[in-house]
Amino acid sequence: DVVTSSGGRKIAAHSSVLASASPVLETILERRLQRVKESGKGGRAVVRIRGVTDDVAAAFVRLLYAGSRYRERGEGEVEEDVEKYAEQLLVLAHAYRVPWLKLWCQEAIGSRLTPGTVVDALQLADLCDAPQLHLRCMRLLAKEFRAVERTEAWRFLRDNDPWQELDVLRQLHDADMRRRKWRRKRAEQKVYMELSDAMDILRHICTEGCTEVGPVGQAPTKSPCPAYATCRGLQLLIRHFSLCKSRASCPRCQRMWQLLRLHAALCRVPDGHCNTPLCTQFKLKEQQKEAVSASVAAKAGDGSDGRWGLLVKKVKAVSVMSSLGKRSSPSQC
Ligand SMILES: [Zn+2]
Ligand SMILES: [Zn+2]
Ligand SMILES: [Zn+2]
Repeated sequence: DVVTSSGGRKIAAHSSVLASASPVLETILERRLQRVKESGKGGRAVVRIRGVTDDVAAAFVRLLYAGSRYRERGEGEVEEDVEKYAEQLLVLAHAYRVPWLKLWCQEAIGSRLTPGTVVDALQLADLCDAPQLHLRCMRLLAKEFRAVERTEAWRFLRDNDPWQELDVLRQLHDADMRRRKWRRKRAEQKVYMELSDAMDILRHICTEGCTEVGPVGQAPTKSPCPAYATCRGLQLLIRHFSLCKSRASCPRCQRMWQLLRLHAALCRVPDGHCNTPLCTQFKLKEQQKEAVSASVAAKAGDGSDGRWGLLVKKVKAVSVMSSLGKRSSPSQC
């Protein structure tokens, strides 16, 4: 009962279909049909789809008829329409608020991005408020910036729209910073995991013993444990620590010292019952420190102590997570 037209060819359509496919068309149609009724002449209302060729307008109407369900069925014709006119259809889908078509077009454009087309696609994405396409463009820009820089499109952008160029460069920089931050976080997480594992193994050496090193006054279990590679390293460290003559200045002993201190901070075994070297001493020292800092509360938050507290907290969190994952690790120290 209506006709859509982009100027040239006229396409007959049903107002109900168009109205349910697009809220923008719904509003336009309401007004047009009202006008036709008021004029009393009868005839069909005309809706113009401006700014695109006849073929694109026809494809757009076809797609609105097909609806989002068509996509799942993968019918040939509409599929071809999207492949062929993705850019213009994206503009229409944005202007007429057809979200499923907008998404589809973004995927179609995004899947065939090249250094040569990415600049135009990015501008289109920003114009049509298309975040998925924007993201894909930025990814490609980050990956192949050298190639993009040599394209005609980039040169054109640089010469004619330096602000946009600056904006793209800023976004690339931001994305790079985010990536770096994420990598740093992952690296930190890895350290916490390793420390958490080291705590498990230290506990294992100090309770059961393993191959050569065992708890004080007790023979170690003869067969190597499943984590023997790490366990062996820690055994050597413990051996060294017990024999070293210059602990204060020795980096290996410093490391062992830190591990023992970390153990004490995480240890839940009642005082006097833990076999791990220096555990009781460290706990006692920590308690004294707490008492002091409670009395001088104002001075609390000393830098290195804050960092240490954070480390303990992180390792604790990691070991809780991994024990939840394994469900087999001992719940006690
Ligand atoms: Zn072991
Ligand atoms: Zn040493
Ligand atoms: Zn302990």
